[in-house]
Formats: sequence, structure tokens, C-alpha cells
Amino acid sequence: MGCHNFYDLLAHVGCKIECVTYGDPVVNVAVECTDHNEVLMDYDVDENPELVEMMIEDKLGKTAPACGNTIIDTLFREEE
Ligand SMILES: [Zn+2]
Repeated sequence: MGCHNFYDLLAHVGCKIECVTYGDPVVNVAVECTDHNEVLMDYDVDENPELVEMMIEDKLGKTAPACGNTIIDTLFREEE
């Protein structure tokens, strides 16, 4: 299922939306509507488990800001 166009997503205006992970270690992240118990969009992990670990630690407040952009910038800067 999921949202693939304007009308799919419009049906969830006003719903309670959550962003959650699945697996330990994490293998999938999803945006879900908890009112309709429906996955709106999701992605499987790529081949970079180090980045996943850094971002999860970040979300738990152990490192920098909640949005992963700073972590991603730092990771790619170190690889140059
Ligand atoms: Zn909904």
C-alpha cells in the first residue's frame, strides 16, 4: 500500500502520523498513519550500516541535532 499521489496522502490529513524503525539492527524505516494503521511510505536500509548507527544514536540524543543532515554532512566530509 502506501501513498503514491496527492489523493492518497490527502486521505490522511488530520491523522496521527509516526516515523518508526523496524529490526534490530534497523533494516527499515517507515512513516505510518496510526489512525488507519497504514504505512504511508517506507525505505529499507542501504549498504551503509555505519551511517544508520550514527543516525540512530543521534535520534536518541547521544550526539548532535535530531535531523540527520549534520551527521550525513560530517560522514561524507570525513570520507573526502
Ligand atoms: Zn490516516
